Amino acid sequence: MKTLDNSIHGLILDMDGVLYTDSSPIGDLPAIFGRIEDRGMKAVMATNNSTRSVEMHLDRFAKYGVKLEPWQVVTSADAVAELLKNTLPAGSPIFAIGEPGLMETLSQAKFVLLSVEEAEKGKAVVFGIDRKISFEKMVEATLLVRSGVPFYATNPDITFPTPRGQIPGNGAWYSVIESATNVKPIIAGKPYPYIMELALQRLGMNKDEVVVVGDRIETDILGGQTIGCKTALVLSGISTEAQGKAWQPKITYIAKDLTALVSD
Ligand SMILES: [Mg+2]
Repeated sequence: MKTLDNSIHGLILDMDGVLYTDSSPIGDLPAIFGRIEDRGMKAVMATNNSTRSVEMHLDRFAKYGVKLEPWQVVTSADAVAELLKNTLPAGSPIFAIGEPGLMETLSQAKFVLLSVEEAEKGKAVVFGIDRKISFEKMVEATLLVRSGVPFYATNPDITFPTPRGQIPGNGAWYSVIESATNVKPIIAGKPYPYIMELALQRLGMNKDEVVVVGDRIETDILGGQTIGCKTALVLSGISTEAQGKAWQPKITYIAKDLTALVSD
């Protein structure tokens, strides 16, 4: 199995299925990050999950014995905040549906978050997964999008993995608004390029020296290929080796797991 060559200086790593599963790390994470550093490489984590803030992710890695810096974690909430900053001035009121990870990120980006009662003042609708979703929130988002306000979503994942199986993900929830308005959202997360470009910016590298690593071909690998990076499929998560070998354009590296990918 081919491993990384010396032209690679940066890694954009997916988290779930690459670094950990629901409750436990995949492999010896301190050793993996030590190995990445020894090889002179830098790593940025990029996740479609918008429920946790960057601080919450850093705490989780600290528990696994890995100390990361805030710049090393990019979420779909960060990517959607960047997209909004390109079109709306600071202080703009927005109606966002989501969990603390998304809400904190949007507040830090200087947007004013509206309650359901004030939603009609919104200059944009942002949709992230919300385990406290309500009929009222769906109504307000629908009315705003129907009135022509721009519609953004953190990530398109139709399902969300839990120990009991796959449950409805953000893509399934916002599809209700799509059906009711006939408007598709602008999506920040993988496989769309915004989150990947943000991760690349954080590395400060050219795309030809960076490998995008993930366990899900249609999000991670496709996202990496969309921005022109090399890609690596690890078999510690969702996609299989057969699916990896059949994928076009060809995936640069296929490895059992991240430990195998970064070893010699
Ligand atoms: Mg994954």
